[in-house]
Amino acid sequence: MKRALFLLCLLLLFPSLARASQARTFFAMDTVMTVSAPEADSALLDACEREIFRLERLFSVTDPDSEISILNRDGRAALSPDTERVLSYALDAARLTGGALDVTLYPVVKAWGFTTGEYRVPSDEEIAALLTYVDWTQAELTDGAATLPEGAQVDLGALAKGYASDALADILIRGGVTSALIDLGGNIYCLGSKPDGSFWRIGIRDPIDSSAYLGSLSVKNAAVVTSGSYERNFTAEDGHVYGHIFDPATGRPAENGLISVTVTGKNGMQCDALTTALYVLGPQAAAELLPHIPEVGALMVDDGGELWITESLRPFFTPLGSYQSAPIHWIAQ
Ligand code: ADP
Ligand code: MG
Repeated sequence: MKRALFLLCLLLLFPSLARASQARTFFAMDTVMTVSAPEADSALLDACEREIFRLERLFSVTDPDSEISILNRDGRAALSPDTERVLSYALDAARLTGGALDVTLYPVVKAWGFTTGEYRVPSDEEIAALLTYVDWTQAELTDGAATLPEGAQVDLGALAKGYASDALADILIRGGVTSALIDLGGNIYCLGSKPDGSFWRIGIRDPIDSSAYLGSLSVKNAAVVTSGSYERNFTAEDGHVYGHIFDPATGRPAENGLISVTVTGKNGMQCDALTTALYVLGPQAAAELLPHIPEVGALMVDDGGELWITESLRPFFTPLGSYQSAPIHWIAQ
């Protein structure tokens, strides 16, 4: 009884503790995910969690029964509407980015050990041989079925979490939620505004010192997706650090001048696909492409510690720490 009274006092003093119960954390798609939605009841959070596992079972490359695994094994598979939407958008994004995003890179990504954690540096010959299977223009998608040429395999990892964040936002909106923060391991979706009506302020990690933030972005009703090789990488025997974002032109981890890319916009899948693609393109080519995609904002860090930011984000970005004095290349959109 005393304990209950104590808890009641705590909740009265700190109402945010009561809200904390309206959050759910779970591990899926190889990352820690948290959905915080003060207005949601536990049934709605259950529905969110179930949706993530449902999507994971469709897209996973490690689950042999997923639609993607069946496609990779048989070269042909019937696709449910979700898988079809993601693959179809992946092919559109490949066209838009000149193949910087290419989901048929999977045989290469696998050879470097990024699926199993058994990292290695394949020989030039092995990479060249695997690259012959990499070509998004050969993937065909018609009437709910996909086909791939012999030896080709796909992986939707570059945009699956973005799609999942959109799906969760839909579920929450249909459940009557007006304010929520969906964090799928770096893929963030801010639904509505903060419960008090103000902007969500999302910290963007410093890619050089991951315990610090390079700045913050203030957003409402938007996805904020960050990708960088500092998140997932391995150190080879010679000390070289290889990241998990690959350049389809070389079959090697992309080292084209960027170390972190954040994209924000209404569509989480689009933002996720673009973080990977811009990272591959490098600062100059990314800055040339962004004016053609005015619906997103981007914030990129190059390997000299300089920032590349679209003009649209100027009122919403606050640099922190050493980045307060970093040179900024503004990108007109
Ligand atoms: P995460 O948010 O998990 O770090 P990203 O959105 O950065 O993922 O995408 C990286 C993943 O996408 C890699 O783990 C790999 O499976 C796949 N991938 C890597 N490079 C490319 C590329 N150029 N095009 C498409 N998929 C890629
Ligand atoms: Mg991505």
